[in-house]
This record gives sequence, structure tokens and C-alpha cells, in this order.
Amino acid sequence: MSEVQLQNITKSFGAMTVIPNLNLTVPDGSFTVLVGPSGCGKSTLLRIISGLEMPSSGDVLIGGQDVTLEEPSKRGISMVFQSYALYPHMTVAQNIDFGLRLARMPAAEREARVAEAARILALEDYLDRKPGQLSGGQRQRVAIGRSIVRHPKVFLFDEPLSNLDAALRTQMRVELAQLHQSLDATMIYVTHDQVEAMTLADQIVVMNAGRIEQVGAPMELYDRPQTEFVAGFIGSPK
Ligand code: ADP
Ligand code: MG
Repeated sequence: MSEVQLQNITKSFGAMTVIPNLNLTVPDGSFTVLVGPSGCGKSTLLRIISGLEMPSSGDVLIGGQDVTLEEPSKRGISMVFQSYALYPHMTVAQNIDFGLRLARMPAAEREARVAEAARILALEDYLDRKPGQLSGGQRQRVAIGRSIVRHPKVFLFDEPLSNLDAALRTQMRVELAQLHQSLDATMIYVTHDQVEAMTLADQIVVMNAGRIEQVGAPMELYDRPQTEFVAGFIGSPK
């Protein structure tokens, strides 16, 4: 079980409250996409779920367990960012393996996990290359590989494709959908790309100024937007 629940989450930076009082349930195994204008609090919310940021008040539950005070590495969560810093002097295999080595996992188990990630991400033929010898899409796959090997229950993605060109974004969209299928994990995915949201999500969460405007399946939001904001945001062409 890896349902994520946010209960009465408030977040302030100094005098500025960026998330006033937010409640959200992300179903176990769902592909939940967070959309909303720049500065509305999407990244802050992901950071609160991951534990990189503490809420000012409220609780974070993962699989029914209160993890609000738990450190990030103990939450069974993995975060993939837009800027994927790989170690340039290490091979693909070493990059993917790095976190497991730090965690002192036995070599045989590490090798099996790296091989599994490489298979899922079609990186088998690239394991001996250095990041400089890879395309942008391949580098992003290596970054995702570093998450997969840790076997997280929940993946958080913060605009992971926004640095890629349009053709590659389309390809990666397909790959992310397949990844979700094969891993059977809960995914929370932030994007400002409507097409990405509409094609990837089973549930879209529309945020505006730290609040949730509406939660629903893509076609539900499209057909029955509950606010002007949702109608404008989902309906407007990119
Ligand atoms: P989004 O990801 O939706 O673009 P963010 O979550 O990054 O939005 O930011 C939400 C708001 O919180 C913005 O007004 C931003 O300036 C503010 N904010 C985010 N992190 C900090 C911080 N560490 N200190 C002060 N303000 C912050
Ligand atoms: Mg952001």
C-alpha cells in the first residue's frame, strides 16, 4: 500500500503563506498529475511529500503511516528532477549503482537491481558509456534508473521532461506510461504541459495559489470543469 495522504497541510515561508490548508489523497498505484501556474506551490508540495521541506502544520501519510517527522531517505519515496545531475566521470552503470553503494547494499543485489533498471529503461547497451556520450533522453532515463533501483513505493517527478525537445518529450511520455505499468508504483507528476497531463494522468489535480481547484480524471476536468480557472487552464491551447 502506498497511498499518499496530505491532511490539512499549511506551508509558510516567513510571513508568506504559499499553501493555506490543503487536503489531498493520491490513490495507491495511481498516476497523479499536478498542474497549475508557475509559483502556485507544486514543487513545494512535492518537497513536503518527500520530506525535503517540513510543512508548517498538517500531516503527510504514506501507506497509512504518518511520516511527517520521518527523514526523506526513510519514506520509500524517490524524486526525479528536471535538472538531472549525473556524475560525468562515472559510467551509466556506476551512476545507477551509486546510491545503492552508498547504502552499502551487497554487490550481488546491486548488480541485479542495476540490470533490472537497465532492462526496464532499455539502457542495456549503454551501461559502459559516460553521460557525455548519451542523448538528452538517455541521460534522463539514467536519472530515472537511479530512482528505480531503490525500489521506491512512490515516485515524485518535478517537470522531468521540460528540458527536452518536443519529439523526445513525446517519446518519454510513452516510456513513462510504460514505466508506471511495469513498476506498479504510485506516481505524482508535476508538469505545466497540458498534453502531458491529459495523456499520462489517471487523476489530475489542478492547483492555483496553493489551493486545489479540482481533482478528477482528465476527461472529467475537460468536460465538467467546476471553476472558470479549471476551464481556462485545461481548455486553453498551449
Ligand atoms: P511551482 O513549483 O508551482 O512553480 P513553488 O512551489 O516553487 O511553485 O513556489 C510556490 C511559492 O513559494 C512561490 O511564491 C515561491 O516563490 C515560494 N517559495 C518556494 N520555496 C521557497 C523558499 N525556500 N523560501 C521562500 N519562498 C519560497
Ligand atoms: Mg516548480
